[in-house]
Amino acid sequence: DRLVDAGADGEDTAVEAALRPKDLHEFVGQEKVREQLDLVLKAARARGATADHVLLSGAPGLGKTTLSMIIAAEMGAPIRITSGPAIQHAGDLAAILSSLQEGEVLFLDEIHRMSRPAEEMLYMAMEDFRVDVIVGKGPGATAIPLELPPFTLVGATTRAGLLPPPLRDRFGFTGHMEFYAPTELERVIHRSAGLLDVAIDTAGAAEIAGRSRGTPRIANRLLRRVRDYAQVKAEGRIDRDIAAAALRVYEVDARGLDRLDRAVLGALLKLFGGGPVGLSTLAVAVGEERETVEEVAEPFLVREGLLARTPRGRVATPAAWAHLGLVPPQQGAK
Ligand code: ADP
Repeated sequence: DRLVDAGADGEDTAVEAALRPKDLHEFVGQEKVREQLDLVLKAARARGATADHVLLSGAPGLGKTTLSMIIAAEMGAPIRITSGPAIQHAGDLAAILSSLQEGEVLFLDEIHRMSRPAEEMLYMAMEDFRVDVIVGKGPGATAIPLELPPFTLVGATTRAGLLPPPLRDRFGFTGHMEFYAPTELERVIHRSAGLLDVAIDTAGAAEIAGRSRGTPRIANRLLRRVRDYAQVKAEGRIDRDIAAAALRVYEVDARGLDRLDRAVLGALLKLFGGGPVGLSTLAVAVGEERETVEEVAEPFLVREGLLARTPRGRVATPAAWAHLGLVPPQQGAK
């Protein structure tokens, strides 16, 4: 398991509950989504109505689950949490929908991974608060209409474009979550350090923030690892040197690249002169599967402007040479 993976691991799941901001005010960054959502929720409250369905799109670890809980809290409503992959049959969804209370928030993570029949049931549920439950099979099957209490669906997806348009169109509001700026992650880290009772100074928080790949989940995870190191080596206090030394031990570099990222980039530069080189060749050179290089390492390297995917193969950018402290070969020299 990678320290810089944005998905939640078992330890995160246990700790994250304690670190989650409880209201919009505590939620760091995402100014636009926060402002828009604040209006949607205030307006619904003023009308005494259930809030419109909300779609949140963005990479893992940016706060979609947290925001859904905040929506429920702000509406004074209970929340039910499930995910697309957990709903394989329309019947699974019918069971959840029919047990919702009035005004309840239903959080559907990875909504783009729901099965087609469930998706079609969801259309009607979102629009008319009604589902047709099919009883029996074959020619004798009958559809029994079932009224649902009004509820708020909060759907989460990595990209809104993954949703079929009829589903996307049924959301009253779509919030696009962006990666966080380092200064915003510093605020997340200071806040979490306070909750975890860890002493950290400004430079220490900045050091961790810069290595967190724009992602609060990673920032919180790195903070916990640095805390371990500080407890053993520095009486629990985190400053810049302690943070940097700890993350050196965990092989997370100044820009948030880990061992795998650096291996891919290093091979591209040192073995292939910066490319272009084919994905398969690059994967063999680092001793990893093609998919691992393509899906695990490359997205962040591309996002950081260190690597480009071109029709002729993978190419390193000038920033990649600088980051690994290497000098690119002279143009034209052979
Ligand atoms: P997602 O559902 O998008 O994968 P989560 O909502 O589970 O992400 O957030 C992951 C972790 O990051 C949680 O511990 C949460 O407290 C923290 N976090 C996310 N966004 C913020 C934020 N804006 N401010 C403070 N903490 C945040």
